[in-house]
Amino acid sequence: MKTVNSIDQGAGRYVTGDVRPFDQKNEMFKRPFWDPQMQPLGKKFYYDRVMPKDRPGYRLEDQAMVNAAWHLENTCAQGVRGGRMGLYAWDWDGKFEFPRVPPGLKISTADPAAVTRQVKKAALFFGAALVGICELDRRWLYSPAYLLTSEGGRVATNEVPAEIKTAVVIAIEMDYAGIHCAPAHPASAATGVGYSKMAFTAGLLAQFIRGLGFQAIPCGNDTACSIPLAIDAGLGEIARNGLLITPQFGPRVRLAKVLTDLPLIPDPPIEFGVRDFCLICEKCARKCPSQSIMYGPPSDKTHNISNRPGVNTWHINAETCLAFWAANGVDCATCIRVCPFNKPAGMFHDWVRWGINRLRPLDRLFLWGDDVMGYGRKGNSDRFWRR
Ligand code: SF4
Ligand code: SF4
Repeated sequence: MKTVNSIDQGAGRYVTGDVRPFDQKNEMFKRPFWDPQMQPLGKKFYYDRVMPKDRPGYRLEDQAMVNAAWHLENTCAQGVRGGRMGLYAWDWDGKFEFPRVPPGLKISTADPAAVTRQVKKAALFFGAALVGICELDRRWLYSPAYLLTSEGGRVATNEVPAEIKTAVVIAIEMDYAGIHCAPAHPASAATGVGYSKMAFTAGLLAQFIRGLGFQAIPCGNDTACSIPLAIDAGLGEIARNGLLITPQFGPRVRLAKVLTDLPLIPDPPIEFGVRDFCLICEKCARKCPSQSIMYGPPSDKTHNISNRPGVNTWHINAETCLAFWAANGVDCATCIRVCPFNKPAGMFHDWVRWGINRLRPLDRLFLWGDDVMGYGRKGNSDRFWRR
């Protein structure tokens, strides 16, 4: 259901200072590879063996599901390690494998609306749940990049060519039943499938754009920060849990993008009441097992170098978040599970979402109803297997 208002400014509306491209080595998942303070945590999360436990959501079959879910990302893309390979490769030799179209052809861009429609159709066809387009704001590029290799972390230039001026941002829906079990393994499996689908969808979309005769750089979490680009592309709003909230799936999405020089028509940014609702909600902050989520209004205050200065938002303490992941033996997603915007598809939930946008004085009533109905309670991981 479309219950959104178009607005003029995207992620720039949260900027309060001199925002520059973020040094990717400061991103939390990279710090264990160079920051002595984070190395013990990194060793525990990335390298220590995790034995199965005889309790729902932590058995061998749960762990095997997570491992399988990540398989395509881990073997064919590696966006979490820096991308630039496999499905996230930046280059193409120009050869059509099938059908055997001669190299060097280019579509006409005389009708940008038609080309934009075709690109969006391709994104949805390849598996995106949502797609939006924005001008590439280079403040959101990582610079420099930090790549994880078999020898460890490596600083790299992030030279996205100057003629690349557009980002196609895609959202992949994560499985509701899996996320419902957070922070147990089925939620991580839903996340892992999300990452594998990101690589599949962005990789194929990039190849489609190259086939039209233009450059395309497919990225997962690498190369540029996804959330500000998704806000710019009209996919949603930033929320207290540090995640993008979409009107359709709440925070239950993963984001990928394709950067291109193909001229496309941008989508307007949107607003649908997330900030106001987060101000009175705080459910994710209360339920976060590591208390990594801020209470109160958004702020410029950062916790550590993994937050970007100069942005008025709810900064997450990624250090304590990752510490919980390491103790849990797997990632978490509780802040996705409990969010009242995370609802399965259906008319009733469409109505609730409509109400949150249109009837803002009733936000507290919607929040009360969410608690009374038991939404966000942790699901039984054994039941996940029986559905
Ligand atoms: S992932 Fe878990 S630990 Fe991290 S911020 Fe969300 S709820 Fe907290
Ligand atoms: S749980 Fe509540 S406060 Fe947290 S992101 Fe969702 S709506 Fe906002």
